[in-house]
This record gives sequence, C-alpha cells and structure tokens, in this order.
Amino acid sequence: MIVAVASGKGGTGKTTVAASLAWVWDRPVTAVDLDVEEPNLHLFLKPEISGCETATMEVPVADESKCTYCRACSDLCQFKAVSVLGSVLLTFPEMCHGCGGCIAVCPEKALSAGARELGEISWGRAAGRIGFFMGRLRVGEAMSPPLMRAVIAKLEQIRKEPAPDVIIDAPPGTSCPAINAVLPSDLILLVTEPTPFGFHDFRLAHEAFAPLGKPMGVVINRAGLGDQSVQDYCRNRQLPILAQIPFERRLAEAYSKGHVLAEALPDMHTTFTELMAGLRGSAEDSRQREVTAHA
Ligand code: SF4
Ligand code: SF4
Repeated sequence: MIVAVASGKGGTGKTTVAASLAWVWDRPVTAVDLDVEEPNLHLFLKPEISGCETATMEVPVADESKCTYCRACSDLCQFKAVSVLGSVLLTFPEMCHGCGGCIAVCPEKALSAGARELGEISWGRAAGRIGFFMGRLRVGEAMSPPLMRAVIAKLEQIRKEPAPDVIIDAPPGTSCPAINAVLPSDLILLVTEPTPFGFHDFRLAHEAFAPLGKPMGVVINRAGLGDQSVQDYCRNRQLPILAQIPFERRLAEAYSKGHVLAEALPDMHTTFTELMAGLRGSAEDSRQREVTAHA
C-alpha cells in the first residue's frame, strides 16, 4: 500500500503526520520525502543515511559545426529550449524538459545527449526499521517533478521483496509537483487545519486530486481552532475524517524539538495507530467497491 500525505497549503502538519504514521506502522514501511524543494522529514525521523547519488536529466548539447540551421529542432521544442536565430543555434538547458525530441529529429546529428544536474537522492533507515528516501532539489533548479520521479525510480530499484508499504510526504499545494507526488499512491491522506486559509486550500486540494479517482481520507490538525467548515465539507462529500490532532501547546513543544509525536506522546501513538487502521479500512472499502463495480 502506498499512502501519499498531502495538503493544500504548507504548514498544516503534513510532515508531522507522515513521520508519526511511519513511526507506528506495524508492517515493513518506507518513508519517502518528495517535498524536494524543502525536504524536512529527515529532521523528525533522523535516519542513518547509507547511500547518496546525484540525479540528472538528459538535455541537448549542440555541435554547431554540424548544424545546417534547418530549424527542425526549434520547430519541435514546445519549451523554446532550443532556438535557431538566423545562423546561430542556441540551447537553454534550464528550460529543457528532457523529452529528447530535438536530438531525435536532428538530421545532422548536431545535437547529442548531455546532462543537467537536478539534485540529490539519499536513502537509509530510521529507528532501524523504517526505510527512508528523500530528494533535495539543486539550488537554482526550477523543475522538481523529474527529481521526484528519479527518487521513486531509485526506491523501486533498491527496495527488497516483499515490497514494503510506502508513506510519501508530498509537497504542499495543487500544482504539478503535488500531483506528481500523489500519482504513485493507492490512497491520499489530506492534512488540513480548520482555519479559513486551511479550509480554502483544503478544498482546492480535494478538487485537484478528486479526478485521479483515488480514495481519500482527512486528518484535521490543530483541531479546536476555527469553525466546523472542514467537518461540514467532509460530511457533504463523504470524505472520511480519519484523525483529529488537537491544538495544544505540548504538541507544538514536541514539534519544535524535532520529536515524532507518536514517539513522544502516548495518546498520539494511539491516535496514529487508529489512523493507520482507518487508512487500511478505507483502502479495503475502495477495493471492495471496485470489485462490486466490475462484477
Ligand atoms: S535540427 Fe540539427 S541541423 Fe537542424 S537546426 Fe537543429 S541542430 Fe541544426
Ligand atoms: S529535449 Fe525536448 S524539451 Fe529539451 S530542448 Fe529538446 S525538444 Fe526541447
């Protein structure tokens, strides 16, 4: 089972939930930080890092001495990452999406494959039992989805059979990186807070992820703040609220010290154990609905 922990906005407690969920998980599990622009899951799980590598993406490198300025490459590229201006051939590797099309269409073999560094992938183990993977985007790199895909590819490459469950800490928001992070999941866990901003962005996230057709559950963090808008919204759309984390000083203190809530506070251990059971129940309900639909 792959669970993506997502949120409409940053600061709702998504990483707090992902870390505690991994902590209480009672089957082999790997925690994956795909919030590659600002990874912070490691600050809580404190993994021992055992491997690290640089991730790259293929970009064109020009040999202008072979170029006839036919424009086949620039006509093809949708991102203006290769251009022909009269008798000048220009490449802009930072704008390239790595499709390889320009290299394939060049009749003179004037373009060949080079590499652009995306960032770093590292992996290890936390608490001796939780597998751990994370990506960290290179400073100045604008595109995070290629690095996120590289992290997942590395996870697939080195994880052992039987495959452990996976908990993904997704980037916040509803843009391309967030969608990319939840795509590999079987179930999306939306973390929100009951404030006007939290509710607004939670709704956006639900509307963005709903077309993917994956089962979704909700965690309300800082419960007790704000009003009942999140609860009403969930009730009207049959979105199960699987856990509520109270707005209490002792939780904020544990967080500020980099503690995993489920490790530091016994009642939180119970809350997250129940959340784990709720997720499995939601996954099973969804599977049953699929079986019934196909019967
Ligand atoms: S397709 Fe090849 S030959 Fe044509 S303009 Fe591009 S690099 Fe030059
Ligand atoms: S590899 Fe694709 S995106 Fe990159 S420059 Fe070539 S055509 Fe454009």
